[in-house]
Amino acid sequence: MPLQNIVERLLNGDRRALARMVTLIESESPQAHQYLAELHRAAGRAHIVGFTGSPGAGKSTLVTHVVRELRRRERKVGVVAIDPTSPFTGGAILGDRIRMMELSGDSNVFIRSMASRGSLGGLASSTRDVVRAMDAAGYDPIIVETVGTGQAEVEVMRAAQTVLVVSAPGMGDDIQAIKAGILEIADIFVVSKADKPGADQTVAELSMMLSLDGKRRKAAWRIPIVKTSALKDQGITQVVDAMQQHREYLNESGMLMQRAQRQVRSELQALIVHTVMDTLKAKVSEEEWNALVEDVARRERDPYTVADELEARIGLKAE
Ligand code: GDP
Repeated sequence: MPLQNIVERLLNGDRRALARMVTLIESESPQAHQYLAELHRAAGRAHIVGFTGSPGAGKSTLVTHVVRELRRRERKVGVVAIDPTSPFTGGAILGDRIRMMELSGDSNVFIRSMASRGSLGGLASSTRDVVRAMDAAGYDPIIVETVGTGQAEVEVMRAAQTVLVVSAPGMGDDIQAIKAGILEIADIFVVSKADKPGADQTVAELSMMLSLDGKRRKAAWRIPIVKTSALKDQGITQVVDAMQQHREYLNESGMLMQRAQRQVRSELQALIVHTVMDTLKAKVSEEEWNALVEDVARRERDPYTVADELEARIGLKAE
C-alpha cells in the first residue's frame, strides 16, 4: 500500500491501513508522527475505556463479553490489550489472546495486543497513538486492557476516559492494591466471577472502602460496583450501561475536556523528554553515560553538575 494513502484510507475505515499504521507506531517509524498529526484532528470522538485488575481477575473474559454486548448494540469496537511483560511469558496470556481471537473475525471489531519493549513511558505513548489511530478510523468505544495495578498500568490508564477496575472474589490483596494505587483513577468497579462464593463479601469490602474515602464520597460521580459472571452471562449489560453513563457524566460535567487536557499535558511532556533524551543519546556515547552514572553513584561527582554539563552539550544551557 502506498504510504501516502494510508491516512486517507484509514479515515475511511480501511482495516488494512489501520493495521499498517499500528505497525508504524510500534516500530517507532519517523513517518508515524507526520500521519498521527493528521489523525489527531480526526480523532476525539471515541469513548476510551480502560479495564485493569490483577492477573486472573477475569479481565479478558469480561472484555470478550463486553465486546459481544457492544456488537449487539451495533457499536464498532476497538480493543488494545497490553501485556507489560514480555509476550513470551506464558500460556495464560496467550490463552487470553486466543479467546479474544473469536471476536477478530468480525470486521467491526479491531483487536491489537501490544507488549512493552522499551520503557514504560514508551508503552504509554504507543498506546495513546494506537488509540488515536483506532479513534480516527471510527472505532467507538475503544477498550484498553492492562494486567495489574502497578505504576505502568496507572500511566497507561491515564489515556482512558473511563477506568474499570476488575476484582475477583477471594483476592484480598487486590483490595490492598486498589487502595494503594488505583482508587484515584477508578470510575467503575466490577466484581467478576459472581458465580463463585465470596462475591458479596468483595462487593462489601469495596463499598466500605469507598465510603471511607472522603474525597470520593463528595464527588458527583458515585462509583458503581457491578457484579458479573461471564460463566452465567450475568451483569454484562450493566457493565456496558455503566460505561455509557460515565461517558454521559463526563460530557455533562465538563470533565471530558478536563481529562483531555490532563492527557495532553502528560503527552506533551513525554514527547519533549523523549526528544531531549534522543538528542542526548546522539551526543553522548553509552560508555560515557555509564561512566558518568558510576561517578555519581560513587559520589565522586554530583548529579546537578553532571546534568548541567549534559544540558549544555545539547544546547539547553550555556556552557
Ligand atoms: P485475566 O487474567 O484478568 O484476563 O483473567 P481471565 O479472563 O483470563 O480469567 C482468569 C480465569 O478465570 C480463567 O480461567 C477464566 O475462565 C476464569 N473466569 C473468568 N470469568 C469467570 C466467571 O465469570 N466465572 C468463573 N467461575 N470463572 C471465570
